[in-house]
Amino acid sequence: MGVNKLIPATRTEHMKYAIRDIVVLAEKARAEGREMFYLNIGDPILFDFDTPGHIIDAIHKAQRDGFNGYAPSSGVEEALDSIRRDAERRGITNIQDIFVTSGVSEGIEIALSGLLNHGDNILTPLPGYPLYTTVLSKLEAEPNEYVLDEKNGWQPDLDDIESRINGRTRGIVIIDPDNPTGGVYSREILEGIIGLARKYNLVIFTDEIYDRLILDDKKHISIASLAPDIPVLTMNGLSKAYLMPGLRIGWTVVSGDKEIMQDYIEAMQKMTRARLCACHPAQFAIPAALDGDQSHILSMRKKLRERRDLCYDMINAIPGLSMQKPEGAFYAFPRLDGIADSDFEFVKKLIMQTGVVTVPGSGFGQKPGSSHFRIVFLAPEKTIERACGMIADFVDSNY
Ligand code: PLP
Repeated sequence: MGVNKLIPATRTEHMKYAIRDIVVLAEKARAEGREMFYLNIGDPILFDFDTPGHIIDAIHKAQRDGFNGYAPSSGVEEALDSIRRDAERRGITNIQDIFVTSGVSEGIEIALSGLLNHGDNILTPLPGYPLYTTVLSKLEAEPNEYVLDEKNGWQPDLDDIESRINGRTRGIVIIDPDNPTGGVYSREILEGIIGLARKYNLVIFTDEIYDRLILDDKKHISIASLAPDIPVLTMNGLSKAYLMPGLRIGWTVVSGDKEIMQDYIEAMQKMTRARLCACHPAQFAIPAALDGDQSHILSMRKKLRERRDLCYDMINAIPGLSMQKPEGAFYAFPRLDGIADSDFEFVKKLIMQTGVVTVPGSGFGQKPGSSHFRIVFLAPEKTIERACGMIADFVDSNY
């Protein structure tokens, strides 16, 4: 009798997550005994960044104090109060709801699932963090990708956004500062996006997980602070600047006109109730992080600035490669100028020949005809220097 293979749901066909998919190749190179340089995953804990002790203490204390049962579905009061204070410091008013999630990842899932029906579409950045399009596949909703303008520091192209809006467009995702480009959006661009949201009744989903990691003098602006009337879901969490990606704690602040948003908020609350709660003791890390000592962020920014500058100088010195200077986060998105048949081929050969692991640009989407790879500059300067030197030799001998 033949094997009755289980057929997975078609909605999973187009799901990919190149950031982790590339690890399979890296494992192969490692098994061959190669020294590896992992510049593919945005996890600061893998490098010389340590979780601040006072945040860990707060979680231990919560566990000892008995906060080990289920938590309220939206989150514990101490955490919600702290998130509200933080949002208000960022100028966000007209807050209608706040909920704590298992990472920003769950916030994205709840926010999109609560709004979209089959066939609706959402404007998402190209290139962009791949979870958005993965969730859209799951919901059988359509990504509607607008380009980030490489020549303009990877800022969103407002004309391109407007030209893509149609009768089924329900919202727009912005990632500010951005993964994978490191772009930080200007006030003019944010105001332009607000103008479009107002004109076409769009919900704004703003992923601000890197908002404390601005590397130069530019100030981060929370788009919700510029538009108290517009429905905005501002998402943030402890994974990056607070150095706890494994804790899986994030949150969503919902702001905007109450009457417009009431039913949508209730839909999201239903979903938060159905999945019970985010990790209970871990939520006590939120007030410890947001209201406690912030000095580790200053030293993190300093390290990242030095590493960004080194990476920028070395990559731009390689013939056939060019990169914009990232203004925030810890990612750069260098361009392959006429070298390599494809970004995947470039990244694959680079791993196998040098042990330097990056992610192909196609894993984030890229403007047709262009080719990139994403490099993470969390590693110490010595590692970045060696890895970029190996990329230079690799390009020289292969192309
Ligand atoms: N959003 C962006 C833009 C990210 O880069 C990441 C992780 O790299 C996430 C969300 C996931 O965040 P979390 O760990 O809070 O789920």
